Amino acid sequence: MAHLVTLIPGDGIGPEVSDATRRVLDATGVEIDWILEEAGATTLEREGTTLPERVLDTIRHTRVAIKGPITTPVGSGFRSVNVELRQSLDLFASVRPSRSLTGLSTPYPDVDLVVIRENTEDLYQGIEFERGTPEARELREELLRLSGREVGEDSGFTVKPISVTGARRIVRFALDFVRAQGRRKITLGHKANILWFSDGLFRAIGRVEADGQVEVAFEDVEIDQLSMRLVRDPSAFDVLLLPNLYGDILSDLCAGLVGGLGLAAGANLGWEYAVFEPVHGSAPDIAGTGVANPIAMILSGAMLLRHVGEPDAAARVESAVDAVLTEGEVRTPDLGGRSTTEELAEAIRPRVAA
Ligand code: NAD
Repeated sequence: MAHLVTLIPGDGIGPEVSDATRRVLDATGVEIDWILEEAGATTLEREGTTLPERVLDTIRHTRVAIKGPITTPVGSGFRSVNVELRQSLDLFASVRPSRSLTGLSTPYPDVDLVVIRENTEDLYQGIEFERGTPEARELREELLRLSGREVGEDSGFTVKPISVTGARRIVRFALDFVRAQGRRKITLGHKANILWFSDGLFRAIGRVEADGQVEVAFEDVEIDQLSMRLVRDPSAFDVLLLPNLYGDILSDLCAGLVGGLGLAAGANLGWEYAVFEPVHGSAPDIAGTGVANPIAMILSGAMLLRHVGEPDAAARVESAVDAVLTEGEVRTPDLGGRSTTEELAEAIRPRVAA
């Protein structure tokens, strides 16, 4: 039976890399019924919203989606579609692997890391108060009453909630992930020495849940120290488990360790739905020029194939990417080459067939 998959091409380079990805996944021979949906700049112009309810309904129906990057229009009053998707579908776990690809010379030849990021809480929960509004004023007064601390009159606020429920489910997800993928160690990043009641809670739940798990090693490291150790020796780490903001930042850092955003794939997973997407954004600086690297989205497609129970096809896609990069003849400019999106996709496509 064909797999039903929602495809959201996205903005900027999104349609270019989505088209390449669709052609590569179709060439695996796995039957996929693509349901095309639009979100982002196009629907904002046409329907006045960046994320029509219809798109969420389609994903609820297909349960699996893959999307290109979507621009967050600054100052438009619209929150990020990506954040909305994650919260509306309760995609609480973001999984972003970074491994050194054979054939690419990077300063780190032996990276094999996965970032697991809590996707729904923390500073990204969207509880904000703009400087100078009556709400911000009221909040200042309430904070003074509750904490005895005065906050500057010209302050804006972003709230950082981390709950036991949210922390526990992501820690358990990470423990299951490590066991299922035959990995070995979780490193939990935090700033608990300063943020006692948010990061401190995250760390405490991590410790409690990991306690007694003999087959999974566990450590926790302050986020600043972790950043330093990552760039010195990323091979010392296996799975990084991070609250939302740190996860966002360090997954880009990890992408940089292995050759950049053009290669970094990702998945947003919940108990019911899964949305796969590259880590990179809509890259307005190169949109429409036909030189975007499609590999990040193609590898996100490989993660999708594994998720829907097609591990052989997923492995074929990954091997084809490795092979093309190892040969080194077809590379987009971000990898030091001169090839186009189309040429790179066409080099990968014939190699993924069963
Ligand atoms: P970006 O990732 O779009 O671009 C950063 C740099 O990396 C640019 O120089 C770009 O040319 C390059 N780059 C990115 N992807 C590439 C690819 N596949 N091939 C070659 N080069 C690539 O980040 P940005 O410029 O900060 O963000 C642009 C827009 O994308 C913003 O509106 C942002 O909100 C949005 N964004 C969306 C997502 C998402 O949809 N998940 C993620 C990040 C950013």
